[in-house]
Amino acid sequence: NDPALRNGRRGGLGDRPDGARCHLHCSFPAARVLMSDACLFCRIVGGAIPAALVASNDHAIAFRDLHPQAPSHVLVIPRRHVASLAEAIDAAELGALLLLAAEVARSEGLSETGYRVVANTGDDGGQTVHHLHLHVLGGRAMHWPPG
Ligand code: 5GP
Ligand code: ZN
Repeated sequence: NDPALRNGRRGGLGDRPDGARCHLHCSFPAARVLMSDACLFCRIVGGAIPAALVASNDHAIAFRDLHPQAPSHVLVIPRRHVASLAEAIDAAELGALLLLAAEVARSEGLSETGYRVVANTGDDGGQTVHHLHLHVLGGRAMHWPPG
């Protein structure tokens, strides 16, 4: 049912019906196209939606949250589409995500005063964007327990 295959073209990695290249990594090409088009954060990774980039590494990018909940509020996300922490299986990718969060905290000047890293996961976790992300929050004292 892959339209690219029906049209007699091989659905190679990153092959899209409109001929544009998709730079997201996923084992199934058709799923890559769907994810990059449907997922807000995939579209930010692909550059289709602008974001204020703060830092990046091979596995992850960091950009400012559109609705900051603290003086410093940065989202760290994998370049690849991973729906949530519950679906994450790649240790190198998760490690890169956490290291980038710590790098962001340093560059935001939060390392001395402290900060919070949060991964809202699933409905009860309050996750609203279904592409794994770490919130890096700082610049004020955080409350505990969280709401
Ligand atoms: P969640 O609620 O899933 O843990 O976090 C999603 C976060 O994404 C929220 O803090 C929300 O403000 C942020 N967000 C939603 N849409 C956009 C967007 O288009 N650009 C940016 N930079 N952040 C967004
Ligand atoms: Zn995504």
